[in-house]
Amino acid sequence: MNDLEFRQQVLDELSPSFCAAKWYNATIWLGSGMTTSCHHPPAHLVDKDKVTTNPRLLHNTDQKKQDRAQMLRGERPAGCEYCWKIEDMGVNAVSDRVYKSKIYPIEALHEARNTPADSDVNLRTLEIAFDRTCQFACSYCNPAFSTTWVNDIRRNGPYQYLESDGRNHFTHTHDSAQPYGIRESNPYVDAFFAWWESDLHRTLQELRITGGEPLMSAHTWRLIDWFRDNQGRSSTRLAINSNLGPQVDVYRLLDSTEGMDVEIYTSMEAVGKQAEYIRDGLDYPLWRQNVQALLDAGRTVHCMATVNALCLTTLPRLLNELVEWKRTYGRERVNFTLNILRFPSFQSALVLPDQLREQFRRDLAQWLTDHRGYSYLHEHEINHTQRLIDYLDVVKTPHSDAFEMPKLHNDFRQFYRQYDQRRGKNFAEYFPKLKEWYDSL
Ligand code: SF4
Repeated sequence: MNDLEFRQQVLDELSPSFCAAKWYNATIWLGSGMTTSCHHPPAHLVDKDKVTTNPRLLHNTDQKKQDRAQMLRGERPAGCEYCWKIEDMGVNAVSDRVYKSKIYPIEALHEARNTPADSDVNLRTLEIAFDRTCQFACSYCNPAFSTTWVNDIRRNGPYQYLESDGRNHFTHTHDSAQPYGIRESNPYVDAFFAWWESDLHRTLQELRITGGEPLMSAHTWRLIDWFRDNQGRSSTRLAINSNLGPQVDVYRLLDSTEGMDVEIYTSMEAVGKQAEYIRDGLDYPLWRQNVQALLDAGRTVHCMATVNALCLTTLPRLLNELVEWKRTYGRERVNFTLNILRFPSFQSALVLPDQLREQFRRDLAQWLTDHRGYSYLHEHEINHTQRLIDYLDVVKTPHSDAFEMPKLHNDFRQFYRQYDQRRGKNFAEYFPKLKEWYDSL
């Protein structure tokens, strides 16, 4: 059954707005007590008093129950606007509602359909962040997700003269993202462990820990220890997102998870100095060493690229390095995804002038031509690369908002000039191919 058939024959039969993510999937930022069903609806606050007596309310919030009730009536929850916009493009449009529901058995979808909207359901897939502790301050991140970013703003003040939407992400320390001190008791973290111990470890298919840098959080190690000490009690797949940077103890991770099936996800989209410029705090040779250590120990590494305006000069070289690892360790052991950065929009690849976009598009198209026929690439890797090539195509994806572009160019210039001063970097030295355009902004 293809995606459209799944939507028409399975989902729409349950209700024209049904999405299983509302029942079975969540991202929960335990540091702040915010949650959402998938990455699209705005996050909302969990009631901290209620979760102390019923930890399942970490996921089963009043907001999500209202949304479920609307879906069961065939109405569209406003927070899911991302999907409705896509579906309104035409009767054959397939939104994320399909992809986020397809991953569950059809019986589970019927079970959700037949469960009263105000019931507390058990999650099947969950992404959690314990806190925002992170030794990196990547250019496209912000203080809500990194304590090093917080320190930048505390030391140097807000970024100034930014004009485009989202500028406020760089102007304050986002204290609401971490209202509890690292050593203070946090009701959301306590509720998570209570729920985990009571029944979540039995029902959850996949648990992904993200951050900040999760391997710098004592709570992550507590959870890893639980898995090690309770082998056989849970069939939950554990996945960890790590930047594999300085202060991440890969050998402790290997020791602690010996014999366990843990998936390691790591972010990278460029190589060498260019990668270190974008992901401030990164030591690229150390990152390679850490990936190598994981692969040598028989682990699988998933590389997640966040494709932005700066990474395109060296992205094909990163893909070559990943292919080398695939050749050495096997296709299944190293995977990559190419995720297109849309926010902050002034760092998107769409801010580049046409001739640079076209040049980068051609480089990637050549890379794909050279590698497409080989079995070491997964279908999704070919599709992601082709999707990026199409995205960079000036004809297929023209600059979407000519009115916004002067603001985006202003912010690109203003942001990286201040970033250079604060971080001791020099844009023109790292990105000679972009220098002429950058100087003209
Ligand atoms: S309908 Fe779309 S936006 Fe809403 S939860 Fe499902 S996938 Fe996410």
